[in-house]
Amino acid sequence: MQIRVGNWKYQAVVGSKLLEKGGLRIRKVLRGPHCAIISDSNVAPLFGDRIRQRLTSSGFQPALITIPAGETSKTLEQVGAICDQMIAAGLDRQSFVIGLGGGMVGDISGFVAAIYERGIPHVQIPTTLLGMVDSSIGGKTGVNARDGKNLIGAVHHPSLVIDDVDLLKTLPRREFNQGFAEIIKHAIIADAEMFRRVAQVSNLRTEQESSWKLAPLIQRNIEIKSKIVAKDELDQTGERALLNFGHTVGHAIERAGDYREFLHGEAVSLGIVAACAISIKKAGLPRDQRDAVIDLLSVFELPTRLPANFSCEKIFEALPFDKKFERGKVRFVVTPEIGSARLSSDVTMEDIREAIDQL
Ligand code: NAD
Repeated sequence: MQIRVGNWKYQAVVGSKLLEKGGLRIRKVLRGPHCAIISDSNVAPLFGDRIRQRLTSSGFQPALITIPAGETSKTLEQVGAICDQMIAAGLDRQSFVIGLGGGMVGDISGFVAAIYERGIPHVQIPTTLLGMVDSSIGGKTGVNARDGKNLIGAVHHPSLVIDDVDLLKTLPRREFNQGFAEIIKHAIIADAEMFRRVAQVSNLRTEQESSWKLAPLIQRNIEIKSKIVAKDELDQTGERALLNFGHTVGHAIERAGDYREFLHGEAVSLGIVAACAISIKKAGLPRDQRDAVIDLLSVFELPTRLPANFSCEKIFEALPFDKKFERGKVRFVVTPEIGSARLSSDVTMEDIREAIDQL
């Protein structure tokens, strides 16, 4: 599928057995010969050698750079260490970077590509469902600062995205399921028909079945996200903000749980339930549609209620709104019906608190 954003164009290919011809595919787009495959300590042992061989046999000289798995690797220090290894491996301005891993690897490798030699091309090979349907598309790259997530970054679109659904077979179930929070979000904001179809992917019986059901679903999600990004690449008109449906409260829950209690998609699932409660009140979302959303999230074992001992106060404190909005109104993404979303300036802090209390 061809993706366009501003003057930039790239392909996102989705399917099965794509890694086998990965080198040739990359050769069509990039010259090299030097490149760095950046991966993490879980993913590199699974697929690192395979992709390195495919690149070598297509005439590239790849260096595999492995960083520890987990969000704590998404730092500026790690960026410096990766760049040092790339310099030592002889990467120059004709070289390129491949991010082989989940969203963490995608974000840091994209940021390295954005700044190395003032910018070299980036190829995304996502290995998580979240990476395939969300983080590899849109060009947002970056690392975490000491005091906040994703505060240091750059917009740097990839030159190619390769989504090989076979790579998802080794993904732990909880990690696989969290990708569905973003898929369900995309369905709620943009595609009522996909909303009705998503549940069919919950019970994949054979490998064949998973590739022919999962690949079109991933493709459709890329289409939804990339269309929204194309309309508002730099978050200026409010269009891209629609992708934040469920994320205002979701991010606050993630932070309140010290980024340990919930995976990103799990926190977003709870945020979606809160956003639906607010949408009933402020946008006329029918209650049965809210119930359908909760049912669908549950199909993928995503949380729809907070654990009984979880502090709502900590969530309120983590909300990204200044205290001065306390009595005023905030811009919040609501859905009037499944398949559409809009920004509302009619939502108060009280509405948000009430929705969190109900979780
Ligand atoms: P992740 O990259 O940390 O991967 C989750 C875990 O799964 C890790 O332990 C990883 O090693 C492991 N893993 C990955 N692929 C595997 C495979 N095929 N088999 C076995 N294990 C595998 O997390 P994630 O959920 O993919 O992404 C979260 C990150 O993405 C966060 O840093 C978040 O900020 C970022 N993100 C970015 C954007 C964006 O637009 N740039 C959007 C959403 C999220």
